[in-house]
Amino acid sequence: MAPLTQQVKMTIRRGDTVRILRGKDRGKKARVLATLPQVGRILVEGVNMVKKHVRPKRAGEKGQRVVVAAPLNIASVQLVCPACGKGTRVLRRRTAEGALERVCKKCQEVIPSKLTS
Ligand SMILES: [Zn+2]
Repeated sequence: MAPLTQQVKMTIRRGDTVRILRGKDRGKKARVLATLPQVGRILVEGVNMVKKHVRPKRAGEKGQRVVVAAPLNIASVQLVCPACGKGTRVLRRRTAEGALERVCKKCQEVIPSKLTS
């Protein structure tokens, strides 16, 4: 994928549950570990695991293959609404106080952000 010059507006936040729509993990539901808005990708727990070959760093150490989660494109996932449990699209709107909130397009419930820090 070509690097993006602009940040992608993401409705998915860290801590959300998403459903995977594409790839070998299609159909799985998992938690978002990190979002990478600069490249339009997210890192999802236990999804898109790839084997990475690690070279030995010190003498006597062996190179090995480690399994790590690779980030996937945001278009390959769908947010799972915590209120209705469905994979859904998200509406962004302003509250009376001017804060942005996310609303489930299927059940119209506000989706809280589980981001703690
Ligand atoms: Zn919903």
